[in-house]
Amino acid sequence: MSMGLFCIWLIDYLYKKLQKIFTMKKIISLVILTVSLWSCFRSPDETQKEDIKPLNVILLIGDGMGLSQLSSAYYFGEQEPNFSKFKDIGFINTSCTNTRITDSAAGATAFATGNRSYKGAISVSPQDTSSMTNIIETLSLLGYKTGLVATYSVTHATPAAFYAHVDSRDKQEDIAMQLVTSEVDFFASSGLPYFNAREDNKDLIPLLEQNGFEMETQRLDAKEFNVKKKYGYLMPPISMPAKVDGRDDFLPDATKMAIDYLSRNKDGFFLMVEGSQIDGAGHKNNSEMLIQEVLDFDKAVGMAFDFAEKNGNTLVIVTADHETGGFTLGAENGTSDDYDSHDYAVIEPSFATYGHSATLIPVFAFGPGSDIFRGVYNNNEIFHKMLKARELNK
Ligand code: MG
Ligand code: ZN
Repeated sequence: MSMGLFCIWLIDYLYKKLQKIFTMKKIISLVILTVSLWSCFRSPDETQKEDIKPLNVILLIGDGMGLSQLSSAYYFGEQEPNFSKFKDIGFINTSCTNTRITDSAAGATAFATGNRSYKGAISVSPQDTSSMTNIIETLSLLGYKTGLVATYSVTHATPAAFYAHVDSRDKQEDIAMQLVTSEVDFFASSGLPYFNAREDNKDLIPLLEQNGFEMETQRLDAKEFNVKKKYGYLMPPISMPAKVDGRDDFLPDATKMAIDYLSRNKDGFFLMVEGSQIDGAGHKNNSEMLIQEVLDFDKAVGMAFDFAEKNGNTLVIVTADHETGGFTLGAENGTSDDYDSHDYAVIEPSFATYGHSATLIPVFAFGPGSDIFRGVYNNNEIFHKMLKARELNK
């Protein structure tokens, strides 16, 4: 008898034997019961757990940092900028829904929610100003710890879009109130008056403490962080001084502290770091201030990169919301129509506008999934690519 015939004979034999003991209905019930018991007792690892490693994501935003701002680090810094460490590079178009030239609110909304909105919007939709889910809300549901670092107020447009939903960036007291109950676990910035010297006379510091934050309002001091706690560093001024006016290493130091705290979480972390004042320097057409802010931001980029390189499971993205000032690195006397007077040996930074511009903005990526950040695309794609990189992280 061949193997095939033997199998058919065996099945037929077993079936007949079973039929003597059970009815057909009972056999079917028995099969269903066995299958359901098997699926019930499979370990939850096999049935529910995603087949991915929780990818840490650090998004660094140089507010108002176009290609010339970034380039200034190559000509006015003392060492090779950290930007040079990145291999995967792309460009974004930063327009918002109602204007071709965006502002920081719409720019950050695109990064934070994956959707473009109108100028001034803080993570609300352009149709009806309803809330659009942000990346911190999405990732915290997956067990991520989240943090924000900035050198302006935490209520300023860029960080605000990562936790608040308001129809206007100007409502900074409302934005502060929303931080209290947000999913943010760590923040370091200025802007204390929006929390304790408010028009409604409310003091939000005790509310933040009731909500689990250990608050520090005097200085940024590193400590032995407990991953089960939350930490808020809120410096007294509305805006921290510019680097040229004596700001210390707040930005790189806070970035390091945030990473130290957040990386204690086994389920991943998301950190947004903003070099907030590159934009302010552009608005003031102050090239010295601008260069120092870019160099300071580059130090924070170095902190993130060095951690990611050692950690191996961290994606770092460096980009900007838009360019500010129409900044350029032309030759000395380059605005003269006497070409012979141009001195190509000397760079004389200059500005074309006191506002923002529509120039494409570079994107630098490093770590798992960094290759998907290559190419030219719209600013809101950054959000989708961050989540995609996480999904691809097997
Ligand atoms: Mg900003
Ligand atoms: Zn601006």
